[in-house]
Amino acid sequence: MSQSFNDVTTENLAQLYPKILHTLADATFIAIDTEFTGLGVKGDNVRAANIEDRYQNMAKVVKSHALNAIGLTAFKRTSEAEKPSVYRVDNFNLLLSLQASYTVSAQSLRFLADSGFDFNKQIRLGLPYTTGSAEDKDAFGVKNLFRNILMDINRLQIPIIIHNGLMDLMYLYYSLYTDLPSNLQVFAADLSDMFPGGIYDTKYVSDYVSKEPVSFLSYLFKKYEREEKRRLAILNNPDQDHGEKFTKRCFRVEIQPPFPIEQVMRKAVDVEEEGRLDSSAAQASNSRKKRRRKNKGSSAPKEEKLYCEQYALHGYCRQNKQCGKSHDLDYILDEVEKSQKRKKTGITAADDEEAAVTPPDMNVDVPPLPAAPLIPGPSFYHSAHFDSYMTGYVFVHQLQEFRDYTTHANKLYLIGKDIPLPIQKSAFTSLSKGWQELKAELQKMNHGTTS
Ligand SMILES: [Zn+2]
Repeated sequence: MSQSFNDVTTENLAQLYPKILHTLADATFIAIDTEFTGLGVKGDNVRAANIEDRYQNMAKVVKSHALNAIGLTAFKRTSEAEKPSVYRVDNFNLLLSLQASYTVSAQSLRFLADSGFDFNKQIRLGLPYTTGSAEDKDAFGVKNLFRNILMDINRLQIPIIIHNGLMDLMYLYYSLYTDLPSNLQVFAADLSDMFPGGIYDTKYVSDYVSKEPVSFLSYLFKKYEREEKRRLAILNNPDQDHGEKFTKRCFRVEIQPPFPIEQVMRKAVDVEEEGRLDSSAAQASNSRKKRRRKNKGSSAPKEEKLYCEQYALHGYCRQNKQCGKSHDLDYILDEVEKSQKRKKTGITAADDEEAAVTPPDMNVDVPPLPAAPLIPGPSFYHSAHFDSYMTGYVFVHQLQEFRDYTTHANKLYLIGKDIPLPIQKSAFTSLSKGWQELKAELQKMNHGTTS
């Protein structure tokens, strides 16, 4: 089961438009991720110590760059009563194309290229948009779609989930809604008014509440996915005793296949592309096997890690593909778990080679795991739809951990800061003019459709 998703382009937006709206309006929560052409380079000072300066600098970057893609993942809890809880999941990847000149940072370009972003496809099939308050000419344009989505999110108070997503929210706001407010307080006030169901930042929760030592998105996802698989295996084993509390903590996701669309003409390029992705996944899995085989026979001292420690901590390595050490998260997590187990049980390195992997908090007989799903190649780890899926998955895991998760709403992670950015409207702040005007327009639209 690979992560299926709806690939939304100019070829099918009109067909998928009502399905996207319906699926999102029905969601228990929606996870969002975006891809853009610039994160800000050193000179942009997007990590300025003063948060207001930081906002101003980030706004400059957002206004001169472009959104490339938006990932939206709808998580729908099937029933409140069902234990373990089950979430039905629909993934959407919207490819965008800004209809204006914009800047592309070399760093972002390389990042996108390394992640397998298809620039040719973006040029041919990206959904055209212009920034700010300008409207779509096309009734089924992407800005119209996002105005409708916002209306539903607002009316139904659907929570929004991001991972370290301040920049994503700024890009979305500026690209699809209206001009960025003149200061951060007003921006925060606008966000709290737009998203009354709350914004949850899984990066904030993992760093400040769960206190995870490593908290980049794909690492958390892989780690939690392993935990869930083991819990479910225990749950499904009739010989193993597990209490109600244990059952309550478990959950399952059911990823839905993409909505069928009338096949227009299948382009040779798409077929080619699928072939490429398949083979890259196969290659990734092959090289993993090779590495494992190699590792078994190796007598290297244990201290020397075969994975890249820089990558294992931050999800980022300067050397990229030139790095000689592994960036494979499955391999890294295997090694981390082994070393945790060694610490706990005092097994010597030599005995440990074939030791079964057990999470540190669960020293029980773990039945064999269900067959591993097809693991996507590294390129998948940074597509917008997969990042939004991982964000939502991490959020569900956090939901199971905390009793009153609503206390963690509306606190956005700030890089290098000890306190989060509160998303709220103070009595002394008014909403921006741009948002007030758009809100009035949306309300008119809403009355038009319901009367
Ligand atoms: Zn590396």
